[in-house]
Amino acid sequence: MKRIRNFPRPDTGNGWENNLTPRVVAPALNADLTADWLVIGAGFAGLAAARRLAENRPDEHVVLVDACEIATGASARNSGFVIDIPHNVGGDDGGIAEAQRALRLARSATEWLHDIVKTHQIECQWSPKGQYMAASSPEGAAALDEFTTGLDLIDEPYQNHDVNLRGMIGSDYYSRIIHTPGTVLMQPAALVRGLAATLPDNVSVYENTPVTSIDYGPPVVAETPAGRITAKGVILCVNGFIQEFGFYQRRVFPIMLFCSMTRQLTEAEHQALGCPEDWGLVPIKAFAAPTIRYTQDRRLTMRSKFTYHRSMASPAGEFRRAVKLQARQIRDRFPELPPDIIEHTWSGAITMSENHAPGFGQHAPNVWTAVCQNGVGVTKGSLSGRLAADMATGRDNPLIADMQTLGQPSRLPPRPFVDLGVAAMLKRYAWNDRAEA
Ligand SMILES: Cc1cc2nc3c(=O)[nH]c(=O)nc-3n(C[C@H](O)[C@H](O)[C@H](O)COP(=O)(O)OP(=O)(O)OC[C@H]3O[C@@H](n4cnc5c(N)ncnc54)[C@H](O)[C@@H]3O)c2cc1C
Repeated sequence: MKRIRNFPRPDTGNGWENNLTPRVVAPALNADLTADWLVIGAGFAGLAAARRLAENRPDEHVVLVDACEIATGASARNSGFVIDIPHNVGGDDGGIAEAQRALRLARSATEWLHDIVKTHQIECQWSPKGQYMAASSPEGAAALDEFTTGLDLIDEPYQNHDVNLRGMIGSDYYSRIIHTPGTVLMQPAALVRGLAATLPDNVSVYENTPVTSIDYGPPVVAETPAGRITAKGVILCVNGFIQEFGFYQRRVFPIMLFCSMTRQLTEAEHQALGCPEDWGLVPIKAFAAPTIRYTQDRRLTMRSKFTYHRSMASPAGEFRRAVKLQARQIRDRFPELPPDIIEHTWSGAITMSENHAPGFGQHAPNVWTAVCQNGVGVTKGSLSGRLAADMATGRDNPLIADMQTLGQPSRLPPRPFVDLGVAAMLKRYAWNDRAEA
């Protein structure tokens, strides 16, 4: 029996979720039950795994549990980019093949999500606008050149903009922007809620139901505070908490990210920015500069600041520093907006491996994992959950082989070296990217 000792404790600042109307929360498990399948974790990976298991085995019962309320975890608190193009597109043959594989995988996930959004008419501001990648310094412009060289190598379209940038995003801050058309923008909490609300009927969802210990059997027996679940098979979709479940120990590590969202801009403020439509911008120097969204309901979101906290909870001091930093980043980029327009600030964890490999695969005849999305979890999480379900139910899917070629997370040094190493790496990256802060 594996005992779980660290549980998610999401902060309540998530602006995406806070701006939605309250929803009916599924009950916590309060009795013992037996099912065919258990999926633990209801982010993009778990929601995809549960949906696909239920589709592949319509006569079987799937149970999906989450320690918290749905739409409070990382999946609902991200920047809302459904990303297709990897940040670094390769320069040699191996890199090209790898980038093309990553594109194929990401696009399959985007199409799958889009189908669900369309079929169930999920209102989540789904917006196939593509994304801007931006630079404000000569160092950034040089990095953009490298990026477009990579795009040329894999024959991906893009548009180069270095005039009238203000007309595109309402800001003179950047000197050059590349537009790539494949990324979709969305409201992540609304999408997560919609995915959960439209699961097939043979899925039972239990929220506020932390798994406190697990025996992989077979059968799998998972203990929760008020009920035990027995199942033939389990797909673990708990992202950074996977080490608690006995897998990928010393192979994955969390990084905390911080996001702020403004109040809705007034009509006059929207006009001062030139009445742009919704857009999403990723800085080419991503460790110091903010990732920005201008939403359909006229809010700005700024995501910047990376910190390392093993427990995956952010100390209060980090929040204060994030608010100050992001207020300054708004002021620098949109000086016509008044100060103090930030309404929500929150943090969330991404789970990384040193070699950027996902924690995807089968670990025992009845145990699969779909974790460690390396910061691009909308597509990678959705895909790995879906493919883990296909593996578990024996459904042939050529993308499984593509996914397996990404390898497995490599081994990290022991503590405290890994803690010191990750913290030092974040500082070094932030320093290298400082010209765009
Ligand atoms: C601020 C921020 C911005 C980001 N921006 C983007 C972006 O624009 N695009 C993008 O693709 N990615 C982005 N990411 C990353 C992305 O959000 C994550 O990679 C993705 O959400 C991971 O999905 P997941 O389903 O694997 O994990 P999660 O969403 O973390 O879900 C795991 C679930 O497991 C549950 N769980 C854990 N332990 C237990 C337990 N003991 N019992 C039961 N349940 C448990 C948790 O409560 C949680 O709900 C961002 C992340 C952050 C934090």
